[in-house]
Amino acid sequence: MECLFCKIVAGKIPAEIIYRKNGVLGFHDILPQAPVHVLLIPEKHIATLNDLTDDDQDLMGALILGAREVAAQFELSENGYRLVINCNEDAGQSVFHVHCHVLGGRSMHWPPG
Ligand code: AMP
Ligand code: ZN
Repeated sequence: MECLFCKIVAGKIPAEIIYRKNGVLGFHDILPQAPVHVLLIPEKHIATLNDLTDDDQDLMGALILGAREVAAQFELSENGYRLVINCNEDAGQSVFHVHCHVLGGRSMHWPPG
């Protein structure tokens, strides 16, 4: 198994897991870019957004609903938070297993870098 996030799903690499529901796993980013920085991933391996199919509709819905729950868990709902999914090189994707960054606890800039 090559994929870093598949290893986290399998428990072969430790992570601070804070969410697991409906095929979605959430854990703290190892290099946080905000006071709250959680990654939400599908437990099944999907390399990039480009690799999603119609069959992944429920799974990706579960991922967004997971973000909503994580935001509530860390009391971000009212002040706000940002979801980011990077796809391929121009966006700076570095781990090729789909993941959604949940960022909060500070004000965010726009446009993003
Ligand atoms: P991206 O650049 O969108 O592909 O995001 C990959 C994210 O994974 C980065 O924010 C990294 O800090 C994070 N990351 C890399 N390795 C680990 C790890 N072992 N545990 C938690 N987060 C990680
Ligand atoms: Zn994977």
